[in-house]
Amino acid sequence: MADNVNSLPFFYGNITREEAEDYLRQTGLSNGLYLLRQSRNYLGGFALSVSNAGRYYHYTIERQPNDTYAIAGGKSYRNPVDVIDYHSQETDGLVCLLKRPCNRPKNMQPKVGPFEDLKEKLIREYVKQTWNLQGAALEQAIISQRPQLEKLIATTAHERMPWFHGTITREDSEPRLQSGPRANGKFLIRQRDANGSYALCLLHEGQVMHYRIDKDSAGKLSIPEGKKFDTLWQLVEHYSYKPDGLLRVLTEPCPRPDGDIGLIGRPLLPPGHPRFVATIGSAAEKIIGKINIPGITKGRSSRTRSTGCSNPYETRIPGKEAMPMDTEVYESPYADPDELRSSTVDRSHLFLEDGELGSGNFGTVMKGTYKMRKTEKTVAVKILKNDDNNQSVRDEMLREANVMQQLDNPYIVRMIGICEAENLMLVMELAELGPLHKFLQKNKQTTIKNITELVHQVSMGMKYLEEHNFVHRDLAARNVLLVTQHYAKISDFGLSKAVAEDQNYYKAKGHGKWPVKWYAPECINYFKFSSKSDVWSFGVLMWEAYSYGQKPYKGMKGNDVLQMIESGKRMDSPEKCPLEMYELMKTCWTYKANERPGFNIVEPRLREYYYDIAQ
Ligand code: AMP
Repeated sequence: MADNVNSLPFFYGNITREEAEDYLRQTGLSNGLYLLRQSRNYLGGFALSVSNAGRYYHYTIERQPNDTYAIAGGKSYRNPVDVIDYHSQETDGLVCLLKRPCNRPKNMQPKVGPFEDLKEKLIREYVKQTWNLQGAALEQAIISQRPQLEKLIATTAHERMPWFHGTITREDSEPRLQSGPRANGKFLIRQRDANGSYALCLLHEGQVMHYRIDKDSAGKLSIPEGKKFDTLWQLVEHYSYKPDGLLRVLTEPCPRPDGDIGLIGRPLLPPGHPRFVATIGSAAEKIIGKINIPGITKGRSSRTRSTGCSNPYETRIPGKEAMPMDTEVYESPYADPDELRSSTVDRSHLFLEDGELGSGNFGTVMKGTYKMRKTEKTVAVKILKNDDNNQSVRDEMLREANVMQQLDNPYIVRMIGICEAENLMLVMELAELGPLHKFLQKNKQTTIKNITELVHQVSMGMKYLEEHNFVHRDLAARNVLLVTQHYAKISDFGLSKAVAEDQNYYKAKGHGKWPVKWYAPECINYFKFSSKSDVWSFGVLMWEAYSYGQKPYKGMKGNDVLQMIESGKRMDSPEKCPLEMYELMKTCWTYKANERPGFNIVEPRLREYYYDIAQ
């Protein structure tokens, strides 16, 4: 939503109430003249400023937990513009109907708040420090988890502000304010306890005033009787422009003594610090909560990456949802330079567990543990069944291993190695929640946002394949495996091929046992496979996901499907599928491969929609 509002001519961004009144006055102050601005106290919220009978009225449009927007006590809408449209027809509690938008002066862009500038830097630092990521892994983490990271940063950004002094006592705070220049309005914030109670300490005529900041049951912060805020930095921003009950406005931040809590670019607690090690387990528990997330190592990771606590951010992670980076399978098993890099797995280091994860005509997939040089990994092991006539299946498995070995992306199941022992075994990263379609069939309460997050991750993995000139040729929901409910990986590279860069397609020698319902017309008609034909399959995969794991073209034979496609017809939208996503599916089903978008276009479109509904 945030991106869309920026293009509205009557959206002013992060301006104050007084600035809003100035603009309304300059535009004539007529009855029902209105503008929209960013809320300065509610995260993701807006404020509507209206003039009527020569006076100004300001209404907060809050973003509600279910991602709808409403003026307190009013009807909920998908976005703030719908709230405005409604109130242009019905006053419903407003002072008057909204009649005329007060548009921004020419060449004025919506005002960017001070936090926006900081945000990028903070997100990057946060991901770097918390998961010890860099390069492509860092970029991919930011792209796939931006909405979650933004929320996280917004509620913890104060820890990086010079005015935040952590858990110091009242007595400690006073000499800090009294030392150096003693300007009126010099201030700091200290943490009073772990329940979200703080104190604002303010220098006034040589004396230090202490104002309590309490957190209410809804998590809003306020000075007693004062305005409520979602975050400490919003509170500071507000009292920096108006005293609003304080003895004076906040002027200059009292800098935190260097090295006390940590400055940008430096870990708050270095890895190896006794508290760092001690808190890994408990912090992981806090973040992960009681849900069982496979692949998460609690405190036994050899690297600094962990769900663990490299800094005080961790104690306040709002959600119970683990991010992909929290799992053991986000980075390559060989990302650690000290780990022995080998594509063969020593049988004596591999321990198989009872019980199958799945099976196919090649044999079974079992869960196991692989002891690496420094860590122990839970793995999935594809075991070729012992059978005299299975040379072709064996070759297929070796071809699959050969492709997988060349790929390294967080959204693709990685091969850990091949093990030749009592059977031929392909050792892979474990994605314990299994195939996407089955998961969705069983979990019908999964939200559209969650499905979009997963489908977007698949498009990221596919974009990587496209960039590296591989075609998957069997992309379908059954071949997307879930590590967690919020982390998908593409699997099953049995049919995949590397394609020549100049030719960019693979020509099959003949028709095989093909998943025809997922195949683009040129695959069936000319045996031609490219990233563009993977895009077609991706459209079908999206259809499967938004229909909660239903079978595409239900009840139809392959030939009927082909005829339907040739006649220009396409599958209808799944019932709960957002229009934007159905439009994207249909674009993936563009008949001519050269007019169909690549993943370089599909991924950003999905990304944009995902951010839109997730922010
Ligand atoms: P495949 O023949 O590769 O599609 O594997 C057959 C089934 O085994 C899949 O549908 C999954 O249920 C399971 N499986 C395969 N690979 C993995 C993995 N890496 N992690 C967890 N389960 C897997």
